[in-house]
Amino acid sequence: MPALRVEGLKKTYGNGLLALDGVSLEVEAGRFFGLLGPNGAGKTTLINSVVSLARPDSGKVTVFGKDAFAEYKEARRMIGVSPQEINLDKFLTVEESLLYHAGYYGVEKKKAKERAEELLERFALIDKRKARTSTLSGGMKRRVMFARALVHDPKVLFLDEPTAGVDVELRYSLWRYIRELNRGGMTILLTTHYLEEAEELCEEIALINGGRIAAQGTKDDLKEEYGARNVEEVYLRVV
Ligand code: ATP
Repeated sequence: MPALRVEGLKKTYGNGLLALDGVSLEVEAGRFFGLLGPNGAGKTTLINSVVSLARPDSGKVTVFGKDAFAEYKEARRMIGVSPQEINLDKFLTVEESLLYHAGYYGVEKKKAKERAEELLERFALIDKRKARTSTLSGGMKRRVMFARALVHDPKVLFLDEPTAGVDVELRYSLWRYIRELNRGGMTILLTTHYLEEAEELCEEIALINGGRIAAQGTKDDLKEEYGARNVEEVYLRVV
């Protein structure tokens, strides 16, 4: 069973803009999958449609076989999201952000505490646990968003431009960490404009342009198909 199956997804925004024009794709369980494409291609809309922040006009989405709309709660609980826009509640502390999120997904209190502790440690946020998120730097906020995405132990992680605006050191440490998560069996869907990041991390890639999938395949197959030396050349040939 695939981790994620998207079939014929269409989304028109209120202003009449067709952001997704019949997108279909399948992400195998355990894959490190990259969704690449220019600004406005529909990457965030696709992610938001799956997590129901932008209800699509039509199409079907399943997460490990659960219908993302009809069985929203079960499907959504299996997904962790680090959104493109920083969306932390500025009135909560770092620790409260994690616990609140865990509570929302029904994680039992003791387990949530333990998991939050582990993630605060992992993301070097222990000293900041009592700080309100509004007082943190951009890179720290990214770390909190990461920890928050993982606090309910999801099976699939959606990372929407997770390393935009972070320094080199944090970027490399996030790369190491998400690679570790993937090796531990977590399915990862990453969007990024840094093509070297996709080259470094992703096994499989889909290129989206104008709300349609323009190419999809393993990194190696795509390079061969497009006579390209790297992901950047594939991208430039397709988009
Ligand atoms: P980027 O790489 O710039 O983040 P993206 O591939 O994630 O882009 P989306 O953010 O999904 O692209 O946007 C797809 C299209 O939908 C764009 O033309 C965008 O202007 C439009 N769009 C996105 N959100 C809305 C909205 N809330 N209302 C109207 N149009 C929107």
